Amino acid sequence: MSDFKDKVEKRRTFAIISHPDAGKTTLTEKFLLYGGAIQEAGMVKGKQRMRHAVSDWMEIEKQRGISVTSSVLQFNYQGYCINILDTPGHQDFSEDTYRTLMAADSAVMVIDASKGVEAQTRKLFKVCAMRHIPIFTFINKLDRDAKDPYELMEEIEAELGVETCAVNWPIGAGKQFKGVYERATKKVLTFEAVDGYKKEVTENVYHVDDEALKNVIDEDQYATLMDDVELLDGAGAQFDIEKIHEGKQSPVCFGSALTNFGVEPFLQHFLDFSMPPQPRMSDHGMIDPFSEDFSAFVFKIQANMNSRHRDRMAFMRITSGKFEKGMEVYHVQGGKKIKLNQSKQLMADDREEITEAYSGDVIGVFDPGIFSIGDTLTTSKEKFAFEGIPTFAPEHFASIRNKDTMKRKQFVKGISQIAQEGAIQIFTAIGGSFEDIVVGVVGVLQFEVLAYRLKNEYNVEIDNTPLPYQFIRWIDNKDIDLNSLNLSSDTRKVQDLRGNNLLLFSNQWGINWATERNKGLELSEFSKNA
Ligand code: GDP
Repeated sequence: MSDFKDKVEKRRTFAIISHPDAGKTTLTEKFLLYGGAIQEAGMVKGKQRMRHAVSDWMEIEKQRGISVTSSVLQFNYQGYCINILDTPGHQDFSEDTYRTLMAADSAVMVIDASKGVEAQTRKLFKVCAMRHIPIFTFINKLDRDAKDPYELMEEIEAELGVETCAVNWPIGAGKQFKGVYERATKKVLTFEAVDGYKKEVTENVYHVDDEALKNVIDEDQYATLMDDVELLDGAGAQFDIEKIHEGKQSPVCFGSALTNFGVEPFLQHFLDFSMPPQPRMSDHGMIDPFSEDFSAFVFKIQANMNSRHRDRMAFMRITSGKFEKGMEVYHVQGGKKIKLNQSKQLMADDREEITEAYSGDVIGVFDPGIFSIGDTLTTSKEKFAFEGIPTFAPEHFASIRNKDTMKRKQFVKGISQIAQEGAIQIFTAIGGSFEDIVVGVVGVLQFEVLAYRLKNEYNVEIDNTPLPYQFIRWIDNKDIDLNSLNLSSDTRKVQDLRGNNLLLFSNQWGINWATERNKGLELSEFSKNA
């Protein structure tokens, strides 16, 4: 195999998703330890420090302890080059999670064993299932009291609509947690707490028939394990690698990230079952990740991530070929050639200048304000464009006003930039005036982030008045006279950042009115000009 093909073949790119506090950060950190990307475990003491060190940038994230943006980390393990795309844990940022999942080939889902699939995160998990990518489940915190493992598996099946297949099975939980049974090898990895569960545990391996195992786990637990094994082999879903690749079955592993128990086996299983970079659909057909022509699409734009680097970065997933620093590529949507300079990879709090990257990797490049989410870049002679990334219909609307009219310029700049990042959607009156802006969001926390960022990054304070709109419809008719539309009095005509016309409705009744009294009016729930 050529060196290039081998490098692509050995790449794995996954998004990690979880409800806040399930243990995503801890698990990520252990992965990085295996890869040698973080040298000492002691480096990561408290959660706050860890969050800051590895994946979170913004002050608001530190204050609230939630992850608002997603970041990218890379590590090497057993000859593989693994990219982890972090995602915000809160459902209010599920649109960001969706965009990140677009850049990933699979997802790792972390679940707290004592809580199961948490209500607040249902939406996130659904978003994950929507992409039909392989989902690898890690059920965490077995060193604490946990729900029944069968119940946990059932919950995942019910919530996600995918089959689950246990790759290993826990023996006890909490103070009685004795380890996991690996179904394929019939081996038991035993868990022995050190220093009241606070430190990493010692781990031994026994064959399930080994008499010595009975010195470690008591008779009752052994009997339960035998029953469980029989039940899983007889009644559980059969392991099916094709179903896993199609996102129809999720392999499930149990463990404890904090004590570093079951993390390496999970990583190993992940490498065994996951796929190298996958082809992507474009308007010229599927793009082969092993093609030597470089191509990539932008899935995230983020300004002012760090007060030390006040600039704007576009994150792109490489979909084919090799990236080299300073290379010239064609920006399809911009219609011109550009040089990719100042490309970065993010590691811990620092950004490392990178000189090369391959299909499957994610790079951040300096964005002078030319990129939009979904844009394609390529060196191919065929100037294809990847399918756009859909925007979610906003569910909450507010009228946003700038408190200090002297700061109009900063206000317009700030709110436009934040909207271009996809962190909010903004709608102006027809004609594009910024005097009376409607902001639409999927989750209300996005309003808080907006206010916070405008104040901290642009020194602008805003007033926020909630609006009663519930539905949004884009007008598909190109040359319609908006003034002639017959609409209910509570329907509002606005335009989006790209100049598309749309209508905001307070209720279904308003939509019916519009379609019944304006023959030929075509409305859609998504922007076709994304
Ligand atoms: P995140 O919000 O999903 O990133 O969760 P964190 O990784 O920050 O973990 C949340 C809390 O759970 C922290 O206090 C961790 O130390 C703790 N934690 C994580 N994994 C485990 C585990 O396996 N066992 C126990 N007992 N605690 C854990």
